[in-house]
Amino acid sequence: MNESFDVAVVGAGPAGSIAALLLARAGVSVAILEKQQFPRDKVCGDVLMPDAIGLLRELRLWEGLRARGHTTGFARVFAPNSTHVDLAGQFHAIRRVDLDALLVKEATEAGATLISGASATDFRASSNAAILGYTKSGSREEMRARLAILACGAHAKTLQRFGVTLRATPSALAMRTYYRLRDEVDDTRLFFWFERAILPGYGWIFPLGDGVFNVGAGIFRDAGPARQNLQDVLNSLLTRCEGPREMVRGGTQLAPFKGAPLRTGLTDSRPSADRLLVCGESIGATYSMTGEGIGKAMETASVAAEHALDALGSGKMTAHDLARYDDDLERRFRERFASYSKGQHWLGRPAVCDFVFGRARESSRVKSILEGIIAERQNPTELLSLWGLLKAFVLR
Ligand SMILES: Cc1cc2nc3c(=O)[nH]c(=O)nc-3n(C[C@H](O)[C@H](O)[C@H](O)COP(=O)(O)OP(=O)(O)OC[C@H]3O[C@@H](n4cnc5c(N)ncnc54)[C@H](O)[C@@H]3O)c2cc1C
Repeated sequence: MNESFDVAVVGAGPAGSIAALLLARAGVSVAILEKQQFPRDKVCGDVLMPDAIGLLRELRLWEGLRARGHTTGFARVFAPNSTHVDLAGQFHAIRRVDLDALLVKEATEAGATLISGASATDFRASSNAAILGYTKSGSREEMRARLAILACGAHAKTLQRFGVTLRATPSALAMRTYYRLRDEVDDTRLFFWFERAILPGYGWIFPLGDGVFNVGAGIFRDAGPARQNLQDVLNSLLTRCEGPREMVRGGTQLAPFKGAPLRTGLTDSRPSADRLLVCGESIGATYSMTGEGIGKAMETASVAAEHALDALGSGKMTAHDLARYDDDLERRFRERFASYSKGQHWLGRPAVCDFVFGRARESSRVKSILEGIIAERQNPTELLSLWGLLKAFVLR
């Protein structure tokens, strides 16, 4: 491939596709290098949270996606003591194999060039170009662009090759499978289990529509070394914990268990370097505590696209020039990500989980704060902090 582009994007997940889409819509010539062939699967819980839905609406993509997948209006959350509370919110489950294919299609229809089966192997910046080496069909190729955007998700090896990783180990691990469940299984809400053995983390069953459910569990390891094997944790959830066991009883497992790492907390990678911007899970734009990252992958990608447009306009693309992107990310997202990290610390304690979800059953104010956290109207520390917990004691 000798053609050169204004921008080369690495990775066609939600971050890469949204960055490419916005640049293509702005008239920029953009290529996406994706190591897999589309449609490709991505291990995920498959749920778009309200932030993701909001952004897709803003970008005029929601209507096209809404028809695919399954919208629900509640999350049922079980505390370690087995009591539960239903929290209202808008959630949309759509298999990543479909979501990511639809997003990359939007990007290519807007003018981006997708090069699939192209695995980026190295990167260097010269005085006038970003030069990306990649392998495709066994041979090495090179692409020159004015700027590169790295959106390779939690793929640590690629991050290391681009010289932006500060920490190679992931902050969390999660695993999922798909089940077809009995007709009478409730598909009107998401189910979460904050089981003592999983904390900090949780198990889930999410309805995808047509009787199919995403079943999984995730453990946040950044709070300390992983003590448990994730497969054992998930097996134990499905065989020993009454709620999930009853839901999957008589069901058919449709796919093998698959696990994947997560990078959370907006730490561990540098967001920019000479002629390079990094976005999505590659900069840890996945929330601690929830593991929700599709929305923030797309949001950070849209910020990266804004900065890419500025840089292309001004021609200023040194690490020093692009550090404005780092500052912008800090300003827009740091407080919220820090709040999720603190929330994870508190929610990792069984007694706090029991208390918070128990209070949410009794107090409409506490419940409404939890719903506000889901909808991102409020930060987790509104409740999950010493002050927040004291407040929760007295709220009616
Ligand atoms: C089990 C699990 C459940 C989850 N559940 C949810 C959920 O329900 N809701 C939610 O919001 N988030 C969830 N997440 C988090 C979510 O999956 C991520 O935050 C999201 O995928 C990040 O998007 P991204 O575009 O940054 O990266 P990705 O979606 O990982 O996309 C990166 C792309 O880059 C490509 N790539 C990697 N290296 C190279 C290379 N060298 N060259 C070319 N291409 C490359 C990959 O093939 C991939 O297509 C979950 C994560 C896991 C592991």
